[in-house]
Amino acid sequence: MSARSEERAGPASPQPRTAAGTASADVAARATTGFRQRYGAEPAGRWAAPGRVNLIGEHTDYNDGFVLPFALPMRTVVAAAPRDEPRWTVWSELDDEPVGFGPEEADEPGRVPGWAAYVAGVVWALRAAGQPVPGARLAVASDVPVGSGLSSSAAIESAVLAALVDLGNLDLPAERWPRLAQHAENDYVGAPTGIMDQSAVIRGRAGHALFLDCRTEQVDQIPFDLDAAGLAVLVVDSRAPHRHADGEYASRRRSCEEAARILGVPALRDVDPADLDAALAKLPDDETRRRVRHVVTEDQRVLDTVALLRAGRVGEIGPLLTASHASMRDDFEITVPEIDTAVEAALAAGAYGARMTGGGFGGCVLALVDASAADAVADAVAAAYAERGFAAPATRAVHPTGGVTRLD
Ligand code: ADP
Ligand code: MG
Repeated sequence: MSARSEERAGPASPQPRTAAGTASADVAARATTGFRQRYGAEPAGRWAAPGRVNLIGEHTDYNDGFVLPFALPMRTVVAAAPRDEPRWTVWSELDDEPVGFGPEEADEPGRVPGWAAYVAGVVWALRAAGQPVPGARLAVASDVPVGSGLSSSAAIESAVLAALVDLGNLDLPAERWPRLAQHAENDYVGAPTGIMDQSAVIRGRAGHALFLDCRTEQVDQIPFDLDAAGLAVLVVDSRAPHRHADGEYASRRRSCEEAARILGVPALRDVDPADLDAALAKLPDDETRRRVRHVVTEDQRVLDTVALLRAGRVGEIGPLLTASHASMRDDFEITVPEIDTAVEAALAAGAYGARMTGGGFGGCVLALVDASAADAVADAVAAAYAERGFAAPATRAVHPTGGVTRLD
């Protein structure tokens, strides 16, 4: 199976334009109601995991580089209760029918297809790690948009993981959770993602972005207090259909690996930006040179963003965001007209910076704006879309929130 959303089972979730954080109480209530209706009992508890967005650092993860995601106010909530036999039943409001599976299906990747694979994958990863996973009934509700690049997949994995760890009193420190959830997605679902999504969703902290070194997996909480700065981040779901995303992703990745081989470094992260010109001169063609330039300069932009945020200069990161976009558009060539239109319209309406976020060929744009200008920028993007005849975008104001947690 591919990493891309258009091949996933399950319809897209509704995507209202919401103020940040308002929907979570509803989502938790929907999980409880779904649990009662499906199972005729009360859940033993509820666990919530956020979506995430990457502030900067695109296609740097598989080059052993840097990323800077943060956890979003939108959440996936799992209501769950243990059961005596080793069997799992899961219902999601995205589907009519609950899905049930036992150890045989859980222990063999591929046996549970569709969306429930994300749940079975967590059971599988825990069992593969030797954990005595309790049987459980689960009900899932979410306001994380599905397949938009805001990581609804890591959200469901992480909420299910937290529920099973608690229900079974498993001895599993939270530092190990991101790897386990990634393992579920890579090796049970079959989607080749890096460690960023699960790290942000599990380790995110309110008012902070998570600086992640994808080589060492070291994380650092970086202050990112939008309210104090009078700023807002808008996330615009471009609604662009993902075009050829899997093949393009694979070819970008191959180019990077081939370039690292030619340059004699373990990964492009090891190319010093100060030596970039000399490195580029050793590469065989212009396309490869542009791919490498994107990755090397993008790593540096992440470091520069972290330095500004550490200095409390939040408003000054805008030009780095916009430069990241230009690099993705011109050098890495992973943007599409809807995405470029959203970025240009946001900038023209006064955003400090704007960029595509996520792997590309669709997905979301984020824009850093004055809080007071958020609606005007959202309207300007919508107007630009209407003018071009694109399907209306969905825009939300977001802020960094905490990672996966038990609600009650
Ligand atoms: P993204 O993570 O960007 O939203 P992915 O394609 O990685 O997109 O993951 C989306 C898939 O994850 C869905 O198609 C579905 O299979 C599964 N999923 C995510 N959230 C839910 C949910 N609330 N209920 C059921 N399945 C879900
Ligand atoms: Mg995902």
